[in-house]
Amino acid sequence: MREAYYYRHHAQGIACLLCPKGCIIGEGQTGFCRTRKNSGGKLYALNYGACSSYALDAIEKKPLYHFYPGKRILSLGTWGCNFACQFCQNWQLAQAEPQTMELSPDKAVAMAKQAGPENIGIAYTYSEPSVWYEYVLDTTRQAHKAGLKNVLVTNGFINTKPLEQILPYVDAMNIDVKAFSDEYYRQICAGRLEDVKHTVEQASLYCHVEITTLLVPGLNDSVTEVESLARWLGTVNSNIPLHFSRYFPNHRMVTPPTPLATLERSYRIARNFLNYVYLGNVGGSYSNTYCPACFTLVLDRTHQITSHLTQTKKCPCCGRAIDIIGDVQGQA
Ligand code: SF4
Repeated sequence: MREAYYYRHHAQGIACLLCPKGCIIGEGQTGFCRTRKNSGGKLYALNYGACSSYALDAIEKKPLYHFYPGKRILSLGTWGCNFACQFCQNWQLAQAEPQTMELSPDKAVAMAKQAGPENIGIAYTYSEPSVWYEYVLDTTRQAHKAGLKNVLVTNGFINTKPLEQILPYVDAMNIDVKAFSDEYYRQICAGRLEDVKHTVEQASLYCHVEITTLLVPGLNDSVTEVESLARWLGTVNSNIPLHFSRYFPNHRMVTPPTPLATLERSYRIARNFLNYVYLGNVGGSYSNTYCPACFTLVLDRTHQITSHLTQTKKCPCCGRAIDIIGDVQGQA
């Protein structure tokens, strides 16, 4: 246990100030995410240094397509979540109590360094890093000192102050925008859209950001909703990559998988507002990067990553700069 960084005393116990859920936690109780406990009038993070899973993943798996393409990243996860998505793909970590091993920030950084030159740093992923906040903040600081990159894969449901404190140590984020309707957020995820939009807007000022939206048939995949999402993201920054991911039944949701036609329709709509759109969980050419100006294939991901970019990361056909951070593995 580690004392939580964001809380205050309240007439009924403790008010957790980490995320917009705003739990009031009585003595001996835990908050919605199960990771924060009021013990003796102090709030403790129960999952500090508790690592439920780790792997050396391709950066594309996060997914990040415009951040060190082809490189690897040591990926760590814990347990607990401040959402309760009915379709959760990682519910064994988010909503259950998996076995964990102790992994101090020092050890995590040492592991990342030992992983070799193909590893660019540490990704906090698999479960929600916002509710692993104290550990993630401490580890990102140490990782930066060691010359490593930090990546958060998150639902973006975090209050402004803790977000602002951690952003200087974060190099890239993949943020889920689960839908563009507050009703969906409240009913399907137990969250709120406006708070997530704020995180996207704030984070995009500090670090590289990509967005993932899992399209669930009949719930968040209408033409109007997809257009509203893409239009808004385009006003934040039209170079932010948007990944539409194909849904498959999981956890409490039994709706059949997203039809390919819906994903392709969403891709076409979003391209009207954004320069880089991708389809996930479908394979094929929708994972490739095309030049936004002349549509030349610049990064081919159909098998392994093959780059057709120039040495200065421009389109070889029209010379437009392609928005890629870092070295590109497999550059010709
Ligand atoms: S971090 Fe957990 S305990 Fe704190 S407000 Fe959010 S859900 Fe509640």
